[in-house]
Amino acid sequence: MDLTLWQYQFRIIMLGDSTVGKSSLIKRYTEDQFLESINQTVGVDFYVHFLEVEPGVTIKLQFWDTAGQERFRSVTRSYYRNSVGGLLVFDLGNRASFDRIQGWHDEVRERVQPHTVLFVLVGNKTDLEEEGLRQVGRQEAELLATKLGAPYVEASAKAGERVAEAFELLARRVYQGL
Ligand code: GDP
Repeated sequence: MDLTLWQYQFRIIMLGDSTVGKSSLIKRYTEDQFLESINQTVGVDFYVHFLEVEPGVTIKLQFWDTAGQERFRSVTRSYYRNSVGGLLVFDLGNRASFDRIQGWHDEVRERVQPHTVLFVLVGNKTDLEEEGLRQVGRQEAELLATKLGAPYVEASAKAGERVAEAFELLARRVYQGL
């Protein structure tokens, strides 16, 4: 039985093209697991994680892992509305996924109006750098993040690097804005 007491509940959505690592980031954060091959999300998957943002204040984070594919857009749209935070994820080894970030951002902003959603931009798969597979530079990603008004974090779901940091940065931003 889960007796975790919490004071706030935040719904966080994962945004970004298919295969950038959205499901893997959530699995790393909530279960500290990484699988080389996981079933592609169909529709929306649901996860929970508890975070103590300060002594005596625990937040229940609910994650909606939306499918990136165009054909599932109609399923995911209804979930945008109640979300307070979004992780905008691209793959550092996939230029096209970076070029699509602005589109994801604008679409969500439009859908949640008049509410606002706070974002963190995540460049995932830093481990690919060792293999010379990096296609997006840190500087240009930082520029985009500044333009979107979001902090930027480079992470690896595979290596478990800076994953918790990305989620917690987002949760703390939302908490501070209450
Ligand atoms: P999603 O479609 O955005 O949810 O992406 P998935 O989480 O399903 O990941 C797509 C593929 O990328 C899978 O084969 C993962 O194992 C792989 N992947 C996810 N994160 C990383 C990472 O940090 N590094 C590497 N090398 N591969 C990753």
